Formats: sequence, C-alpha cells, structure tokens
Amino acid sequence: MKTLGTQIREARLRRHLSQSDLARQVGCRQSALSMYELGRATALSAETVGRLCAALGLLPPAEGEFAAERPQPEGVRAYCPNPECPSNLPVRVGQAVALVPRGHLAREGERHCAWCGEVLERACPDCGAPLNPGAFCAQCGAAYLAAAPERFDAERAAASERAFAWSR
Ligand SMILES: [Zn+2]
Ligand SMILES: [Zn+2]
Repeated sequence: MKTLGTQIREARLRRHLSQSDLARQVGCRQSALSMYELGRATALSAETVGRLCAALGLLPPAEGEFAAERPQPEGVRAYCPNPECPSNLPVRVGQAVALVPRGHLAREGERHCAWCGEVLERACPDCGAPLNPGAFCAQCGAAYLAAAPERFDAERAAASERAFAWSR
C-alpha cells in the first residue's frame, strides 16, 4: 500500500504544483512537505495533512490511519505568545486586527518558538485550560493573543487568511 506521503506527492505532481507552491498554500514549510512525501509521517501535523488532502482532492486519512502511521504521541498543543511573531496570523476583524496563534503540537523538550525564540505557551494564559484551535479559549473566552501588531501588513495578512481558511 502506498503511504499517504506518496499519494500526496503523486497528486501534487498531477496538478503540476511545486513543493513550495503547495507548502505555501497550506501554510507549512517546503522542507517539512518534502520529508513527509519521502515517508517521514511525523514531519507534518495531522491538521496540515488534512489541509494537504483538501487542497489535492484526496480523502483525508481516518483517525486510525494517523494512529498507525504516527505511533509516537506528538506532545501537547502549544503556541507562541509573542504578538510580533511571524508564526501568529493577523486577521482583520472590522477595523481591528486579531491575532490567531498558529498552534502546533510541541515535541517533548520543545520549549521555544522556532520563529522568534519566545517560550511557548502550553495552556490558556487566563484559566490554564488546555489550548484549543482558534484565537480564543473555549473555557473562559480569553484571547490567546490580545495585542495586535503595530503595523498591519496587508500582504502577510492575506496570505495568513488563506492559510487560516484551510485550518477551519
Ligand atoms: Zn514566536
Ligand atoms: Zn481560558
């Protein structure tokens, strides 16, 4: 049976997409996509693989298939609390800018943001509940990232919004 990485590679090539194009589209690194295609199942998060499948018209794998391919637990969800960090997604809400943390599953021993070096948050800063996807804590409603960046970079925001749309 072909690995999902191989299926993704073949579907990508059928669509004449480069790894960089596809990686940009789903919001992951080209190097991670490359490793995933070569069979390293832990190179991408389940969320990203879901976005890849959606982008390529592939059926997303069932829970069990992820479990089989990914025997190691990936750690707990974490995000970078630095509002200036490029890993967080500025999304325009009316006149204001909200920041959506690009949460990911932190590996054991991973303490610092790969982009800016800030210490990662692993729980809601207000109530301590485990993190959920999105910009707000499902337990207490606190925004994970309250402060907006001083400059609203429209180009970056547009790219982020596209990436964010895939993650919903
Ligand atoms: Zn950061
Ligand atoms: Zn909370």
